[in-house]
Amino acid sequence: MDENVARTAFHEAGHVAASHRYGWDMLGVSRSKDFSGLTESQPRRDGDAKARAWERAVICAVPSAHGGSRRCGVGDLDEVMRLVQKHGFKLSEVWDAASALWDEPGFTKNVHRIAGALIRSTSLTGDEIAELLR
Ligand SMILES: [Zn+2]
Repeated sequence: MDENVARTAFHEAGHVAASHRYGWDMLGVSRSKDFSGLTESQPRRDGDAKARAWERAVICAVPSAHGGSRRCGVGDLDEVMRLVQKHGFKLSEVWDAASALWDEPGFTKNVHRIAGALIRSTSLTGDEIAELLR
């Protein structure tokens, strides 16, 4: 197995599992030949905008908050910094919240389920994600 494929799959799976954790609707996830990936989700509609912005910051930070092995995507870091500045979040608190998700029961298992499927297939639909995380 190509190590870059696995790295990309696990990275995106972190975004997916975090989005799922916050109850966001999953539209899909994919990875491309150049080892970039894309997780598409729809923020939940309840709660206030600042709470959703916080969740988005954590979702972006999740892959890199797990040890040092999964590098932060440049786009992820830009988005975290944009949200931190716009909403006055503390960067350290975003990172702590992202790290804490990895300690929640079932979170790592969900990451592995999504990553495994994303290694076998270059994309998953929202329905496929929902099926894997049931
Ligand atoms: Zn990312």
